[in-house]
Amino acid sequence: MAANKLSVIVMGAAGRMGNLIATLVNSNPAFTLAGVTDHSSKIGELDKFKCPVADKLDSLVNAGFSGVIIDFTAPEVSLNTARIAARAGVCAVIGTTGLNDEQQAELWQLAQQTPILWSANMSIGINVLEKLLPELARNLGPQYDMELVEIHHKHKKDSPSGTAIMLAKSMASARSWNLDETRVSCRDGIIGARKEKEIGVMAVRGGDVVGIHTAYFLGPGEIIEVKHQAESRENFAQGALRAAQWLSAQKPGKLYSIQDMIRN
Ligand code: NAD
Repeated sequence: MAANKLSVIVMGAAGRMGNLIATLVNSNPAFTLAGVTDHSSKIGELDKFKCPVADKLDSLVNAGFSGVIIDFTAPEVSLNTARIAARAGVCAVIGTTGLNDEQQAELWQLAQQTPILWSANMSIGINVLEKLLPELARNLGPQYDMELVEIHHKHKKDSPSGTAIMLAKSMASARSWNLDETRVSCRDGIIGARKEKEIGVMAVRGGDVVGIHTAYFLGPGEIIEVKHQAESRENFAQGALRAAQWLSAQKPGKLYSIQDMIRN
């Protein structure tokens, strides 16, 4: 049976997501933890995983690795992971948020060489919501103003969250709007009446909130709210493991998302 196990390297294994993913990989008989990495200052924390530890991904990959790298770190780091994966012809599941347009374009290019899946939110629930929101928007019609509010823990670096952008894009697509042109993420001062063609995407930060996203459709005499609340990080981590298994059977050619996985 050991031959069927999927080998996984976890980047950023001292971080909130990396630590959970490496722990789940170690306790799941379908996987082998082939290595973990983090900053040199943190690799002392990684001995508990009882697998090869390194502060550079290259050294783990160059040791003849074949499997999937899972990376929840920071945009530049994840891009470098994708470059290494493309060079070595191994798969990469990337959950890092906050990648700019240029970084996303490079990820698309690298995905032509090796299977890469990138999703700002690995939760199955959020991905189903991404499909549902445009349908709601279309059925309710243009009289309903669309807004989105997200809440996250106080350590989160990017704002609004990658998930909020992903959901707002899906709402904008129902009206053939470009989110970059219609998103408003700050309202301050004498701003006047709300424009018809805009989507508010607002962020709240504090405490240890894992992630709450609420989409609003505000119409004449009624409000529809659709809310997703992540109760723990485990739903993202389990989504990443499922994505690793699915991706290991895919071919390069496009930058995959969780949507591609749940459609199959
Ligand atoms: P975190 O700060 O707790 O962890 C990141 C880890 O990456 C840290 O331990 C850091 O030392 C490590 N790191 C930084 N540079 C590195 C390098 N060069 N090599 C190896 N490790 C390195 O952050 P987190 O809460 O775990 O989130 C990480 C990312 O994942 C963020 O972008 C966050 O928004 C995103 N995230 C995505 C999802 C999803 O479902 N896609 C869910 C939660 C978080």
